[in-house]
Amino acid sequence: MRIILLGAPGAGKGTQASYLTKFFGIPLIATGNILRAAVQAGTKLGLTVKALIDQGSLVPDNVMISLVKERLSEPDCVKGYLLDGFPRTIPQAEALHLADIHIDFVVEIHVPDEEIIKRLCGRRVHSGSGRIYHIHYNPPKISNQDDITAEPLTLREDDKQETVCKRLKVYHAQTEPLRNYYRNQFQNNPASGRYIRVDGAKPIEEVQQVIVSELRK
Ligand code: AMP
Repeated sequence: MRIILLGAPGAGKGTQASYLTKFFGIPLIATGNILRAAVQAGTKLGLTVKALIDQGSLVPDNVMISLVKERLSEPDCVKGYLLDGFPRTIPQAEALHLADIHIDFVVEIHVPDEEIIKRLCGRRVHSGSGRIYHIHYNPPKISNQDDITAEPLTLREDDKQETVCKRLKVYHAQTEPLRNYYRNQFQNNPASGRYIRVDGAKPIEEVQQVIVSELRK
């Protein structure tokens, strides 16, 4: 089963991706996580992409395409995978197509922009462990402190309001066109795959159930 998760930053792709990959026993390929790990490790790739991520800009297509193609050629991907955060542009989707990489399902998690801004700008991270909190939805026991270490929490550079608005603008301009790209592809050849759109403003468990039942149809 090869799945692409589509949705604006903050739509809940990460949460659903980790549930779905465990449920179906397939690897998760989350390009944002791969890039952040490279930044943390200070690799050449990390140094190249850090400023782009912090500003909410996209990393160039050629960098992303070779990164993902290499990852998809690893042995654990033979039984399928879930792509979270890729493709994010039409050229990235075309690169998959040209490489004969066939996608079975595209799942779009739709959430209105106002809700996205509330979700992302309220998110706080404990940088040492990666533990994530939210000032409204999942507050730490003591304001702005990690529950385990009591170290201060931080606001990720790309969760700052101005960056979030930029990321949404980039999403609408560059990634949203993938909706019609895949809808048309599946409409022209219904046996090739299916486009599924879910309401991501619903509670997490409800979104999970809807996606799983759609994927099992
Ligand atoms: P994410 O965690 O998926 O929101 O990704 C964080 C950041 O990584 C994005 O804002 C981009 O700067 C970069 N990024 C991740 N995936 C891609 C991609 N497929 N194409 C271009 N940039 C990407």
